[in-house]
Amino acid sequence: WLGLEGKVAIVTGGASGIGLNIVNELLRNGAKVVVADLYGEDGQQADGSYFVRCDVTKKESVDQAVATAVEVFGSVDILVNNAGVNLPRLLVDDKGERPEYELSERDFDFMVAVNQKGPYLFAQASAKEMIKQNKGVIINVSSEAGQEGSAGQSCYSATKGAVIAFTRAWAKELGKHNIRVVAIAPGIIETTGLRTDSYNEALAYTRGVTVDGLNTDYSKSIPLGREGKLTEIGDLVAYLASDRAGYITGTTLNISGGKSRG
Ligand code: NAD
Repeated sequence: WLGLEGKVAIVTGGASGIGLNIVNELLRNGAKVVVADLYGEDGQQADGSYFVRCDVTKKESVDQAVATAVEVFGSVDILVNNAGVNLPRLLVDDKGERPEYELSERDFDFMVAVNQKGPYLFAQASAKEMIKQNKGVIINVSSEAGQEGSAGQSCYSATKGAVIAFTRAWAKELGKHNIRVVAIAPGIIETTGLRTDSYNEALAYTRGVTVDGLNTDYSKSIPLGREGKLTEIGDLVAYLASDRAGYITGTTLNISGGKSRG
């Protein structure tokens, strides 16, 4: 039990995958949670959670979501910047077979908007609330790709690397307000959301393997020999959000089964 009673969290992209699990773990430990996602019914409430329809790339939408958290639950104590998109793309389609898998300006702008601009907009609006109460925690969901650079995912890696730099810099700016800023860098996690057929097809092409070969490719590269569980990410985030992690700020925690040292 991490004792999150009395705390209010916002989880972006909390309607599915890793985000949904983070929402459930925060609720289980006593927090109230505002789920901010593109998909879902605005204003829907259930056992301590409240859904706000929100596009993390739009300032008005983000400001509205933060204002709603204050209106409905009274404060913002925890922000989890989790919403993210990943389009596997080669810098150059050197095989010349699938030009649609070459990184276009549009793909670039889309990933930067969701993965980099979204966390900035949410952190800015939330930090203003946190400063008023002289406490808060911002948790940015980065990726192992942001630490290591992933072939076929250079733009995604760059946006996730940006989030790590934001984390270091914001921790330095906000420490005096008793606000901690931490990032997590998951490796390969057993999500279904991201693994659509079109994602797998693009990933396989950019890695030069078949779609069937992707799973073997994953497990061979992970020392623990398996993908991470969703609950393992939720547990880590809930711990980082709690006062037990009170002296951790500015850092990025790699959670990849030993795939990379981070
Ligand atoms: P997912 O696709 O299952 O969930 C992402 C959620 O974000 C969805 O609910 C989606 O609706 C929401 N979203 C997307 N764009 C949005 C926008 N503009 N505004 C509001 N919400 C938006 O993905 P996931 O696998 O659960 O990934 C969650 C986070 O974890 C992402 O930041 C991802 O980059 C990161 N991550 C995932 C893995 C993995 O293996 N799945 C590994 C490392 C990092």
